[in-house]
Amino acid sequence: MTEKRRCRWCRRILPDATGRGRPREFCSQACRQWDWVARQRARELELSEGELVMATAELDALHDELYVLACAVDDARRDLAAAGDRATTRELREILEWVLQAAAPLRDRELGDSSSERP
Ligand SMILES: [Zn+2]
Repeated sequence: MTEKRRCRWCRRILPDATGRGRPREFCSQACRQWDWVARQRARELELSEGELVMATAELDALHDELYVLACAVDDARRDLAAAGDRATTRELREILEWVLQAAAPLRDRELGDSSSERP
């Protein structure tokens, strides 16, 4: 399997390129704009390629969401092990939904959304 192309801004997987032309770099116009704004700001602040300025609140929120997901993964592992080979569909569904619920905020996250600035 070839590696999927991802949006340069939000890292969502891009749909497979169709037709001719340059492959897409962004999943949406909003992501293209955020990337542009970020690069302008980086230039103003003379940041190097690997440096990043991020709001503390945004980073804290991301850490919180990752922590919730990590806990759900632990729970799911434990529940799967406890259920063993005779787990019912219902049990498996509950385990899966628990993980999906914990992952949803990360899935739906919009980078830069907490900022009051808009491109
Ligand atoms: Zn995107």
